[in-house]
Amino acid sequence: MISQLFDLTGKTAIVTGCNTGLGQGMALSLAGAGCNIVAVNRRSAEETQQHVEAHGVEFLAVDADLTSTVPIDDILAQTEARFGGADILVNNAGTIRRADSLEFTEQDWDDVLDVNLKSLFFLAQGFARACIDKQRNGKIINIASMLSFQGGVRVPSYTASKSGVLGLTRLMANEWAAHGININAIAPGYMATNNTEALRNDPHRSQEILGRIPAGRWGSPEDLSGAAVFLASAASDYVNGHALAVDGGWLAR
Ligand code: NAP
Repeated sequence: MISQLFDLTGKTAIVTGCNTGLGQGMALSLAGAGCNIVAVNRRSAEETQQHVEAHGVEFLAVDADLTSTVPIDDILAQTEARFGGADILVNNAGTIRRADSLEFTEQDWDDVLDVNLKSLFFLAQGFARACIDKQRNGKIINIASMLSFQGGVRVPSYTASKSGVLGLTRLMANEWAAHGININAIAPGYMATNNTEALRNDPHRSQEILGRIPAGRWGSPEDLSGAAVFLASAASDYVNGHALAVDGGWLAR
């Protein structure tokens, strides 16, 4: 049955940054496909927990600030203790700083690169090591961006990080695909979340962006549901190193 290809019953996914926004949307869609959720957040994810548990699956909250790699061993240890390890890692937590490149500070550079790229890499490394040690297949979904393909404006550290995410997705696929680990990315377009609040509040930028989206609307967290379940499930077993744009057609323009 084709629906079995997308079934995640009995699987466990680590989802970073899922108290809100796209991470919350993906945690709920994976839970809806039968997957237990390990929610990695620096703030309470109570709302996500309620919605996840409503699907009849298990939820484990792990407190972690991913500006540092220090919590990574604990995330993996808690996942191991509760679920015997994870099958899926969604590297979603991310942050952004906006300022003209001529004024951009080193702090704004480090704040973004540390979460969006450094912690993403080392969490993936820890997850992959666990999969390989246990000879268990794995799925890694890295959250990229339109700025994995384009330059953007006033977001130098974000563009560097998301371009890096695409490169690392390909590198990880090259190194780990033979171990039964699929590494792919989802590249969301312009989605209505905290991340884009400043853009949506700026009438000029908002109109400029909306006018360029063929679908004629901002995306929502629910728009990532199908892509997340696809890349987390057996349906994508021969998909490696790919970046799946979910962008209402933005990149086609
Ligand atoms: P969001 O609502 O701001 O969510 C970002 C998530 O990452 C939140 O859960 C946030 O936690 C978490 N996070 C940030 N810094 C963290 C840290 N140091 N430690 C742990 N968690 C941290 O924005 P979003 O749009 O859903 O973003 C999710 C991902 O999609 C990000 O990687 C973003 O770059 C990417 N993305 C978004 C768009 C878009 O248009 N919205 C487009 C392309 C890519 P807090 O709530 O505690 O801050």
